[in-house]
Amino acid sequence: MNQILIQAFTPLINTYWWMIPLFLLIAFLKSSFMKGVFGEFLVNLAAKLFLDKHIYTLFKNVTLPAEDGTTQIDHIIVSRYGVFVIETKNMKGWIFGSPQQKTWTQKIYRHTSKFQNPLHQNYKHTQTLQAALELDPDKVFSVVVFVGDSTFKTAMPENVVYAGGYIRFLKSKMQPILSDSDVLAICAKIKSGRLTPSIRTHINHVKHVKAIVEEKQRQDDNSCSKCGKPMILRTARSGNNKGKQFLGCSDYPKCRMVRQIA
Ligand SMILES: [Zn+2]
Repeated sequence: MNQILIQAFTPLINTYWWMIPLFLLIAFLKSSFMKGVFGEFLVNLAAKLFLDKHIYTLFKNVTLPAEDGTTQIDHIIVSRYGVFVIETKNMKGWIFGSPQQKTWTQKIYRHTSKFQNPLHQNYKHTQTLQAALELDPDKVFSVVVFVGDSTFKTAMPENVVYAGGYIRFLKSKMQPILSDSDVLAICAKIKSGRLTPSIRTHINHVKHVKAIVEEKQRQDDNSCSKCGKPMILRTARSGNNKGKQFLGCSDYPKCRMVRQIA
């Protein structure tokens, strides 16, 4: 009996055996693990197929220090036409957004969700990298690539593209803006990890400037640097400074912040 069954199925199996690995492959590609990897894979594959590797150098998953820990850049492509910082978004459904908005909207059927504007996200990456590489802003390009089954429902700027579109964007930049030695130096810097110290310096510098600006603002609007309530003029009633005037938080005694009058 078994023998007969096997004989009956043998031609079927011989004809359709290839569908089994195909189904397995599709199931694997559809798994959520692969969804994340797939987007990056697509970008890598497109780069391999369509970009001349003598002109474009691709770096994957570059980890950079950030204000709050580290940040990861999906892809950096270095060429004489500029440095391209690529952020991939693996999303389905309809996408609504504009360059200025803080959050964008994803709509799948009736389900709506918000996500951070990827242009803003990538702007930070671009800025950090630009500072670390000591490049002019016009030599670093931000590109956001949507992979997965999504449709833009609002007009998108030219640097927000679907999967394959990023090659087109890269190739639209035809003007050489970096010398061959610049390109080599940039690649060496990214590869060597020498980026990290200069980015740390950059971040500390930005923090420092921010702190100065904030302190200046506080002094200008005369508010408490601890709790934000207004500072008021007081006279010391005891101690070494008895009789002297100083600024004290109006929330005293809850807040004991004081400031000497300059
Ligand atoms: Zn206070």
